[in-house]
Formats: sequence, structure tokens, C-alpha cells
Amino acid sequence: MKKTLILGGGIGGIVAANVLKKAVGSSMQVTVVDRQENHYYNSSFPLLLIGERKPKQLTRELKQLERKKIEILHGEVKKLDLSRHRVIIDRGVIDYDYLIISLGVEYHPETVPGFSEFALNAYDFNGVIKINQKLNNFSSGQIVLFISSLPYKCPPAPYEIMFLLNQFFRQRGIRHKVKLTLVTPDFSPEPLAPPKVGQKLRKMLAQKGIELITEVKILQVEENVLILDHGVRIPADLMLGIAPHWTPEVLRNTDLVDKNGYVEVDRQTMETSYPGVYTIGDAAAVRLPVIGSYAPRAGVFAHAQAKVVARNIALLARGARPEYRYDGKGFCVMNTGFGRGCYSRVQYYKKPSPHITLQRPTRPAYLIKAAFEKYWLKCWL
Ligand SMILES: Cc1cc2nc3c(=O)[nH]c(=O)nc-3n(C[C@H](O)[C@H](O)[C@H](O)COP(=O)(O)OP(=O)(O)OC[C@H]3O[C@@H](n4cnc5c(N)ncnc54)[C@H](O)[C@@H]3O)c2cc1C
Repeated sequence: MKKTLILGGGIGGIVAANVLKKAVGSSMQVTVVDRQENHYYNSSFPLLLIGERKPKQLTRELKQLERKKIEILHGEVKKLDLSRHRVIIDRGVIDYDYLIISLGVEYHPETVPGFSEFALNAYDFNGVIKINQKLNNFSSGQIVLFISSLPYKCPPAPYEIMFLLNQFFRQRGIRHKVKLTLVTPDFSPEPLAPPKVGQKLRKMLAQKGIELITEVKILQVEENVLILDHGVRIPADLMLGIAPHWTPEVLRNTDLVDKNGYVEVDRQTMETSYPGVYTIGDAAAVRLPVIGSYAPRAGVFAHAQAKVVARNIALLARGARPEYRYDGKGFCVMNTGFGRGCYSRVQYYKKPSPHITLQRPTRPAYLIKAAFEKYWLKCWL
């Protein structure tokens, strides 16, 4: 029996396992390895942060996939031995015919001096739970959210967090006592989009009284102060950060990666330099046509890439030619507070530059995002 091994039980790994198992039935063994026993649905972390979701609502046991005859191994991936078609995990050695890598990125707060001591990570499940506790006791002062470095996943998420913080304090009647500041190394809120998209977002922030500081280098965090290049100091009563993202060490120790540690792939098939080995999701270095820079990373793209790879593996296993291609298309909804959201359509592979739209905040967009969360957690796990 052929075997497909999937490394990582996050968005990409879960979708790939489902689609592949459905296509191949009992003719192939499909195994997912993850160090975590649970999957945490990241896209709703901003809602968890303001208390509109409870941790339990966003947590699912990966073992649930066993109902679909997908094998789940709880373990740490230690080494990829690609020339011998095998992977070493802490529980032993697993061989494979096809390998799908969806190990995502890890956070490295220790690379920003003072981050771990004086800031809370707004992208991490436990960090978000702590932030929610702090917010419930916050009555006045300045809250700063800083993006440590580029690239970071889901570029609209920090803006969504700021809009939801605005809602949170308005609903409590103390918005006038709270200053909200977002600090980013990017030159614009949507750097790859046409300038009017960035301008729209800047205007929305300004209308809600949210300060935006762009094009800065974060040097250090001290108690209640963010220190930027050129000696600029930003005071904060509550310091939130997005820690630098790196691919897991197990990938950086291979010859699959580029100089930044992301796995080089064919942007249409997601295949790496090793035939039958694919990388999807946040760990992949998907390059934009013409421009050559990385395509931004997000769950919707990991999801779409997973489907392409799983369907092509099913064809290959039957002796057919792989015919599916990832087209760089997707959509995103950024919640803007009070039950509204901005819908964005994205076509990353459009030449000469990506096509990105941003609609005005609407109720239907918010409902689409809420429905997608329910659909995702019900259908894929
Ligand atoms: C706050 C926030 C909001 C977001 N909002 C959105 C949104 O609205 N829309 C959207 O599309 N995307 C959103 N995203 C991004 C989205 O969650 C990610 O892009 C997506 O999860 C990437 O999927 P992945 O499969 O590549 O990695 P992940 O989902 O991160 O999965 C990687 C898995 O690999 C496992 N792993 C890693 N290393 C090892 C190892 N050595 N051994 C064993 N297991 C390992 C991890 O435990 C993890 O389960 C958001 C992210 C955050 C943090």
C-alpha cells in the first residue's frame, strides 16, 4: 500500500489529509504527525482576544481525524531524510511514498530583547488568553501593538486586532481613556496592494482614532516602553507584540530552504526540489511572478494549496498525470468591529503585480467570516 506522510496538523495538513483520504480511500495510508494534540483555529484569535470566543470554541483534538481513517501520530519531527524517503520523529522512523510538509512557522520572541519579559504575543494562543485577561482589567492608558519583523503571516490580522480593541473599549464606555497605537516596519498597511487600498485602511484607522506608525525598526522592549531605531521611544501601559516568525529548525536543517529558511517550491504544484515532496502553507516560499517577493501567507492559501497537492497525489498514485494547479487566488475578511468586516479579493499571480481589493466594512462580510469558522471546524476536523 502507498503511504503519504503529512508533517503538521494545522490548516494545510488537516485539509490535505481530508482531501487525499477522500480521494484514495483504503488504497493509501495517510498519516499526520504533529507535536500538538490539538488544533487551534488561529483566524479567530482576534475574537478570542476581546472575549467574543472562548478557548474551547477554537480548539479541536486532532485525534478526531481518526474517524475518517486518517492516522494521527503525536510527536516531534526531528529530521528529514529525503534521499531515503523517510522522516525521523521522536517516536521512530517513518517512510513514505509522498511527503507533504505543512509545518508552518514558529515564533521567536527571544530575538527581540525584552519581548518575553515585557510584551505579550498577540499571535500565540496562550498569549491571546493572557491579553484577554489584561484587557478585562484595563481602565485607561496606552496600548501598543508592534510587528517585530517582516514577513509575518496574515498581514490584515494586526489591523483587525486594533479595530476589535476599538470596539472592546467603546462597548465599555472608556474608549476616550485608551490610546491605541499600531507600529509596523511596513511602509503601508497593504504594501503589495495598489496605494488606494493602503490609503483606505489608513483612513479607517484615523476615523477610529487608532494611531499608525510605519517604516520603523523595532530594537527593544523595556518595561512600558517600545524602543525604535533613531532612539524613538513609545510608551505603553500594555505592550502587545507579534514575535518574529521562523520556519521550524527541522526544515532549516535541510537543503530545501532559501536563505531566509522558507522552503523553495514550484508556485503552481508546491513541489520541492525532491520529486514527491511538497511544501504548503506558511513554510513555503511562494514567489510572486515578475516582482519575485514572497506572496503573503494565510490560512486560505494553505487550504487551497493543500487541495491541489492532495488531488495531484491521488492522481499520481493511480498512475495518472497530476493536473491541478494552485492559482494564487483567495479571499480574506478583516473584522472591523461591531459586527462588520471588510471583504478582500486577492489574485497573487496576476501580472505584472498582484490584484488586491478592499471593500468597505459590511455586515455580510462579517457573517461570511463567522460562517467560515463554523464550516471549517465542523467539516475538516
Ligand atoms: C492572529 C491570527 C489571525 C489569523 N487570521 C487569519 C485569517 O483571518 N484568515 C486566514 O486565512 N489566515 C489567518 N491566519 C493565518 C493562518 O492561521 C496560517 O496562515 C495557517 O494556520 C497556516 O497553515 P499551516 O498549515 O502552514 O501552518 P499551521 O496551521 O501553523 O500548522 C503547523 C503545524 O505544524 C506543527 N509543527 C511545527 N513544527 C513541528 C515539528 N517539528 N514537529 C511536529 N509538529 C510540528 C505545529 O504544531 C502546527 O500544528 C491568522 C493567524 C493568526 C496568528
